[in-house]
Amino acid sequence: MENSQELRELLSSPKYIVITSHRNPDGDAIGSSLALYHYLMQNGHTVRVAFPSEFPGIFAWMPDSDKILIHDIEPEETDTALNMADIIFSLDYNGLDRIDKMGEVIGALTKTTKVMIDHHLYPDHFVDFMLSDTTASSTCELIYDFLKLMGAEHEINQTIGECMYTGIVTDTGSFKYSTSAKLFRTVAFLLEKGVDDTKLQNLINNSLQLKNLQLLGHCLNNRMEILEEYKTGIIHLTKDDYEKFDIQRGDTEGIVNYLLMLKDVHIAAFITEQPTIVKMSLRSKGKISVQEIAKKHFRGGGHLNAAGGASFASLSSTLKRFKALLPDYKEQILAYQPTN
Ligand code: 5GP
Ligand code: MN
Repeated sequence: MENSQELRELLSSPKYIVITSHRNPDGDAIGSSLALYHYLMQNGHTVRVAFPSEFPGIFAWMPDSDKILIHDIEPEETDTALNMADIIFSLDYNGLDRIDKMGEVIGALTKTTKVMIDHHLYPDHFVDFMLSDTTASSTCELIYDFLKLMGAEHEINQTIGECMYTGIVTDTGSFKYSTSAKLFRTVAFLLEKGVDDTKLQNLINNSLQLKNLQLLGHCLNNRMEILEEYKTGIIHLTKDDYEKFDIQRGDTEGIVNYLLMLKDVHIAAFITEQPTIVKMSLRSKGKISVQEIAKKHFRGGGHLNAAGGASFASLSSTLKRFKALLPDYKEQILAYQPTN
């Protein structure tokens, strides 16, 4: 962010600020939004956090998560907040199409200062200030860089740190993906500020209900398919599975990663039948770009090794379509070596 000094000056007097993040908010969306929220509140601003859709109940412990505006639930209040804002932050998403109707409202605002902090590939340039780093593990990691740019590193306290740690843990799969020396230094800094990593690991990773493990068992036993020729793993879920296991928002998070635990799986797909669309989560190892597959074939995007998209065809034709793509990527998929 080459013009960060200008933003620092803007933030030196009280503003009305709305922090937005993407639909189906995950730990990084909520963590980065609430970390920034607490920092800005500490500095005398009026701040609202607004998401297009609800977040998983597993994050309800996060301080002030109950104050988050959800467009699906309170569309008018959310639109009013966006229209009143002096500054709108876009966190953990790279284009206005990722926030549904809120994107139309923000797109129409011409006088509002817009700021993006994000780590997804190919950000859209709809903002006045952009902190985009596609090598960062998470937007929460970038909140640290942002606060440093604002000269506010010393203002990171336990509350802000806990929010940041949450997004780092969820986006890195508990320090398995996208790690770096800088990330570990940042995490060490957060622990020094009073973040209790054991407490947070328990809140984030050891808080499942029995049905979650039963669902995982069902996925691994009955819904997993390994295409050896293409070193590809697929897990799918039907509408009936959703009913049978009472699957709620966030309950399927992380299931796709189990496929990557297999040595001979280089690319993984988790394909689920939703009420109106078929949603897919893609993961890969090494240089295989699932971002490209998601963007080219499933109207999606994301990161090199973690991306997502959707299809309007039936579950069975989406599965067929995905499998039919694999020959085009076979060379790339087979080229992966764990050592590179
Ligand atoms: P997940 O598979 O965990 O839902 O998402 C993995 C990554 O892909 C996330 O960074 C997310 O932002 C991105 N992603 C997931 N679904 C979509 C989508 O429909 N469109 C785009 N552009 N990105 C997506
Ligand atoms: Mn993220």
